[in-house]
Amino acid sequence: MTTDNKIRVRFAPSPTGHLHIGNARAALFNWLFARQKAGQFVLRIEDTDVERSTKAFEQSILEDLKWLGLDWDEGPDKGGPFGPYRQSERFGIYKEYSDKLITQGNAYPCYCTHERLEELRQRQIKAGWPPKYDGRCRTLPKNERPKDIKPVLRFKSPEKTVTFEDKVHRKLLFDSNVFGDFIIVGSDDIATYNFAVVIDDALMGITHVIRGEDHLSNTPRQILIFEALGFPVPEYAHMSLIFGPDRTPLSKRHGAASINDLKESGFLPEAILNHLCHLGFSPGKEFLFREDAIKVFSLNKLSRSPAIFDIERLKTFNRAYIEKADTERLVELVGPHLQESISKEWLKNAVDASKGEAMTLKQISDIILPLLAPPIFEKDAEKILEESYTKKILGILAEEIQKEPDLSSDTYNKIISKIKQRTGESGKRLFMPIRVALTGRVTGIELEKVFMLLGKKGVVDRVKKHL
Ligand code: GLU
Repeated sequence: MTTDNKIRVRFAPSPTGHLHIGNARAALFNWLFARQKAGQFVLRIEDTDVERSTKAFEQSILEDLKWLGLDWDEGPDKGGPFGPYRQSERFGIYKEYSDKLITQGNAYPCYCTHERLEELRQRQIKAGWPPKYDGRCRTLPKNERPKDIKPVLRFKSPEKTVTFEDKVHRKLLFDSNVFGDFIIVGSDDIATYNFAVVIDDALMGITHVIRGEDHLSNTPRQILIFEALGFPVPEYAHMSLIFGPDRTPLSKRHGAASINDLKESGFLPEAILNHLCHLGFSPGKEFLFREDAIKVFSLNKLSRSPAIFDIERLKTFNRAYIEKADTERLVELVGPHLQESISKEWLKNAVDASKGEAMTLKQISDIILPLLAPPIFEKDAEKILEESYTKKILGILAEEIQKEPDLSSDTYNKIISKIKQRTGESGKRLFMPIRVALTGRVTGIELEKVFMLLGKKGVVDRVKKHL
């Protein structure tokens, strides 16, 4: 246990899936708190659910945290003074403390069968009571313990009101009678979440537990175990849950559920972190970088209202962060997806041209690809190609561009004014036929940029196809 009073927080994912957006927010808030207070951020893998936990998910969670830039001070991959940091490697430690609870009279083996427990549950529900264990094995004499049943271990909950001051929910009271004696070690000898988490938080010297509100009902149980073992109880902050804009639990239907989904859709880590900072917390400004977030973060300012993850909002954040991002970095990120041998210089110009327009890395490639290969015409674009004025505009464009030795901003403007003069067209009717002939699309980056990226030959070749 720590002897100094430094802040120690932890992120404790279960490796039963990819890093979920809600968990990433928990990791971020713990990380921000640790970094602001010059404390320690511990990564602990809660893999006691042996059936559902996999090494591949553990690896994926670690990679996503690294990708988000949330580095940890102690963890399964780097060790630390309070390891091991994987619960599956700590069974011996849990056994030591469950034995202690038995010796102290705070825990007892329970031999009740599933059938009995189910029958009890049904009876209680029928009578309108919340289901809980009735404590039958509390007083079972040793000589009456069945030899052929492998028992579970139950914590003997003292009858009391558990009180604690949550940073988000303020003072909370829970009557231990509501949950009764709960299981701390299964019949397979595996410590349950509520037990393992207490032993780990205590032995790892965790000072603040920052986690989702879904764990609120576990907290009184955990506090009773802390107290029975004489461990100091950490401070708690239970963050509000994250929903989609339709107020249902966040899922893939809302555009993304995991950090991996977002990464694959072409979101930048800094944009994701920015949106996460706005979930259940008001950072006071719209765009933050990690350094700003470390400065403004405060547990006391976490909100109690549900947080809304909105992929559309994230897209607008992402567009802004793409605009701010170093072009060379974007080229590195986008280049591999284009599968074309393009000059780095051209790609740099193309990525620069997409800034301000592209909302995701994928949209950058969507903007660039039609400039590299013959355009594929969208339905709306085809309609414009059929308009009577289109041929005329394109014909004049072909003529005028031939008069110029090369393309520049000046010659572009000159050509456009000439077409305007000679056709009498302007606005959409002037620009759309040209855009469509050059890119196959009705939207995209500024037309002047399209001209510069295609070059004179590129423009002429594409226009001629429609004459
Ligand atoms: N493994 C738990 C989870 O992923 C951790 C909860 C906690 O932070 O105590 O929900």
